[in-house]
Amino acid sequence: MSSTAVADFGLIGLAVMGQNLILNINDHGFKVCAYNRTVSKVDDFLANEAKGTQVIGAHSIEDFVAKLKRPRKIMMLVKAGDAVDKFIETLLPHLEEGDIIIDGGNSHYPDTQRRYEYLTSKKILFVGCGVSGGEEGARYGPSLMPGGNPEAWPHLKPIFQAIAARAPDGAACCDWVGEGGAGHFVYHIFRDGVGFTDDEQGDIFAQWNKGVLDSFLIEISTDILRFKDTDGQPLLEKIRDAAGQ
Ligand code: NAP
Repeated sequence: MSSTAVADFGLIGLAVMGQNLILNINDHGFKVCAYNRTVSKVDDFLANEAKGTQVIGAHSIEDFVAKLKRPRKIMMLVKAGDAVDKFIETLLPHLEEGDIIIDGGNSHYPDTQRRYEYLTSKKILFVGCGVSGGEEGARYGPSLMPGGNPEAWPHLKPIFQAIAARAPDGAACCDWVGEGGAGHFVYHIFRDGVGFTDDEQGDIFAQWNKGVLDSFLIEISTDILRFKDTDGQPLLEKIRDAAGQ
């Protein structure tokens, strides 16, 4: 290993989410190396928000990769879409078997599945990780939902569970959720696989909201599934499956 490989974790993307997550990881005693497409933002970050911390920066992908301990753990918090694929291609020639790439952005699950298969063929461990809690969560404790190649989890678990939010009983709001983007599948399976109507799905969510899954999102899902348009038909079916940033 190179003597310059000093960082426990690498993070690409110095917009608000990336900056806050880096500071959170740093607070928990891990050394983070920061990188960004617009390289001047690395120096700005180190001179301002990250001043006085253990955070280090890189000015090129080569420099960034060289500063990471193996297996490298590299998280991207960049704009969902092309930027993720571009960074994967940029990183690939510099990585070694068993290195880990984590996409922490709001990627659509089929993209995560495609990247997972592609990177598995390159012997790179890919993880798609839902990050919930917005900017404040990223800084002081997000809910993290990592899924992808299970071989990556033992390497990520100490860091992810340290920085995640805590439940009242002290449990970390982070655990391995399985392969691919499991959560997005639920609606499709219920509707197209099992053939439940929106009202029937609403009843299931209402039931879940009385048990261990009790949460705000489950509660509003119940209401959304049951909501009728002015013609008496379920409104959800009429809403286009598309969203901007
Ligand atoms: P963002 O505005 O979504 O993305 C900005 C970052 O992406 C910058 O580092 C930017 O680099 C980079 N980027 C954009 N286009 C690029 C391209 N074509 N090639 C390479 N890099 C590119 O940042 P964010 O709000 O911090 O969110 C990061 C991710 O987390 C997104 O996927 C977002 O959907 C998700 N997320 C956000 C929140 C939130 O509350 N903001 C919450 C949960 C999840 P430059 O500086 O060079 O432009």
